[in-house]
Amino acid sequence: MLLDGMAASHELSFGEAYYPKAIHHALEASVLVLNRLFLAIHIIPVKRAFSLLLREQAEVVSLEEGQYSTYDFATWREVSEYRSRHFRQADDDWIRTVTCEIQVPRVIRLLGYDRIPRQTIKFNRRNIFARDGSLCQYCGKKFSTSELSLDHVVPRTQGGVNSWENIVCACVPCNVRKGGRTPKQANMALIRKPERPKRSPLLNQKLSNHKYQSWHMFLSNAYWDVELG
Ligand SMILES: [Zn+2]
Repeated sequence: MLLDGMAASHELSFGEAYYPKAIHHALEASVLVLNRLFLAIHIIPVKRAFSLLLREQAEVVSLEEGQYSTYDFATWREVSEYRSRHFRQADDDWIRTVTCEIQVPRVIRLLGYDRIPRQTIKFNRRNIFARDGSLCQYCGKKFSTSELSLDHVVPRTQGGVNSWENIVCACVPCNVRKGGRTPKQANMALIRKPERPKRSPLLNQKLSNHKYQSWHMFLSNAYWDVELG
């Protein structure tokens, strides 16, 4: 059967043997996942997307001349072959198997999943840095993540808690200067009021990349903008 054959040759393409640079590049891409009702619910790595397609749990949603078309994996493989010869575009990513090239889909749709899972934006260092754009929230300068620390706006010794509203990026000199004081006590103003992000900072980063322009259509719905409880 075609899919079984594809599965076997596909595994090979993830190894190092074939065009490792291009493959690594393609595998670093992300895929937007829609539920059966075309609502955006996740962002997943390419490998996971191909795994869902191979198991026929998902189909490809492809933007063509402003219209969306859907393909099962076998058909997508045929479409890819044709496109690889006639419609290659700079933003496209390709996975090379032994026998053919398959275009990395930007959007897939789960065929048997109707729900909208509860969205949570993890309260962690990476997302705080992303929210603050790696800018020290006191001096406003940009730093590499290794040069940034996290600062409790109201220090813990004065009752400050771990929350989106009370933790910001700060460079080490600013953090040291501020010490165990509030911004007011230290006479150091925040460049921006810290808030819980309404949308995943990771998603915002992706959306600024032209490669993911086809995502915008599915992200205008309320799901991503919903206030988190
Ligand atoms: Zn600073």
